[in-house]
Amino acid sequence: MSAAIDAACRGLSEDLPGLVSLPGNDRYAAATSIWAKQVGVTPGAVVHCRTAEDVQAAIRSARERELPLSVRGGGHDWAGRALCEGVVLDLSGMRSVVLGADGRSATVAGGARAADVTAVTDPFRLAVVAGSVSSVGIAGLTLGGGYGPLIGRFGLAIDNMLAAEIVLADGRIVHADGESNADLFWALRGGGGNFGVVTAMRHRVHELPSVHSGMLVYSFSEARAVLERCSALMASAPDELTVQHTLIADPSGAVVVLVIPTWSGRPEEGEARLQPFAKLGTLLAGGIERQSYAALLGMFDPYIVNGLQTVMDSCWLPALDRDAIDVFIHAMENTVSPGCAIITHEFRGAASRVAKNATAFGLRRDHLLVEILASFPDRSDASDEPRHRHWARTTRERFVSALPGGYPNFLARDELDRAGQSYGGNAGRLIEIKRRYDPDNVFASAIPLPRSA
Ligand SMILES: Cc1cc2nc3c(=O)[nH]c(=O)nc-3n(C[C@H](O)[C@H](O)[C@H](O)COP(=O)(O)OP(=O)(O)OC[C@H]3O[C@@H](n4cnc5c(N)ncnc54)[C@H](O)[C@@H]3O)c2cc1C
Repeated sequence: MSAAIDAACRGLSEDLPGLVSLPGNDRYAAATSIWAKQVGVTPGAVVHCRTAEDVQAAIRSARERELPLSVRGGGHDWAGRALCEGVVLDLSGMRSVVLGADGRSATVAGGARAADVTAVTDPFRLAVVAGSVSSVGIAGLTLGGGYGPLIGRFGLAIDNMLAAEIVLADGRIVHADGESNADLFWALRGGGGNFGVVTAMRHRVHELPSVHSGMLVYSFSEARAVLERCSALMASAPDELTVQHTLIADPSGAVVVLVIPTWSGRPEEGEARLQPFAKLGTLLAGGIERQSYAALLGMFDPYIVNGLQTVMDSCWLPALDRDAIDVFIHAMENTVSPGCAIITHEFRGAASRVAKNATAFGLRRDHLLVEILASFPDRSDASDEPRHRHWARTTRERFVSALPGGYPNFLARDELDRAGQSYGGNAGRLIEIKRRYDPDNVFASAIPLPRSA
């Protein structure tokens, strides 16, 4: 951190009494410890925001002092976009979730995680469309799109966002929905945190008394047969059925194939719908059960390790076909450490039926999002990072049928060309709205946007 940033951050503490913590402080350490450890990034200060007005004051003060800023929600972005060499606006104290009186929507504060939402909605057998993991920030996930196990039935998380309260780069607090600031609302649905700090979002709430799901564990030696049979089952699956695959090393170091089907339709059909997934090969462990939506989102919790260094590559595939399965198998036969994994997310049903230009999100057709994840402990072995990066990159490059672009929330900071491809025909409008709402690129730390259409 430079002396100038250090001095400006001390000034910021005077502007925002009681809200700022500096390096060395426990609150600073908690806010800057994010899911993926960031090496070589030392924020000058953290502003612990509690209200939209705190966010407003923080943006104004940071801008007056010419400090770069970033926004920390749930802290789960792999590329560390929550942090910067300036001021971190920490929203982790803004986690309230309020169910609307009619039970049809919920207002979710800007730093809430999926678990905060299910804690409020589950007791009423209701659900907000989230991702597949309980600790991920709802706003960060939603602003980039939001793939999850309810995607076939209800669409992406953005397809269920009804309105947002946002603090803009000039410090104004505005409301955006389909009628007021409609352009901004369009851009927020897929354009990430590029337009301001969302202090609250209103999401549609769905009736969901329970789901059927479970983690089915198969041997890697049966990976081809398991994945091919799974793909065949999904070819005629109704919207209420989604499936996620993970190829990962188990605690003994052996690679396993996890198949996680979810049925979100009529509970009495759940068991029969999911039974075939338990017969894709020789089941090593796991089973299907009826469970709450909160339990479903907590399924991955035991597998999530915070504080590892992480590199991620990702791509969109048209389908889980034979070529894709070959790449999965080749990649997992050639991992560079036990921290290498491949995770898939489906995009189908309701998400594919939304018009291409209805939101900024650029790809509205059935596809498979592939996450190529490589995590390793911070042992200061300089070769770890390039080895893992090489594994992830070469794996992606092997997918011959990959679609252009990729999920914006998963792109690396420098993937501007891929960002352009991701937004496709929506790129031009997105760039124009970015210029209008954030002409000085105050929110430069957010996911990459294309520079030109
Ligand atoms: C374990 C794990 C599981 C995941 N599972 C899924 C999944 O199932 N589906 C899926 O689609 N994605 C998934 N993701 C990706 C995730 O959606 C993104 O990384 C998302 O950005 C995380 O949001 P966050 O608030 O937790 O992260 P943070 O690191 O806190 O924030 C990342 C960036 O998002 C923006 N942001 C966050 N909150 C706000 C806000 N209130 N206002 C404005 N901008 C904001 C900012 O630019 C911020 O820097 C997963 C990630 C991890 C690590």
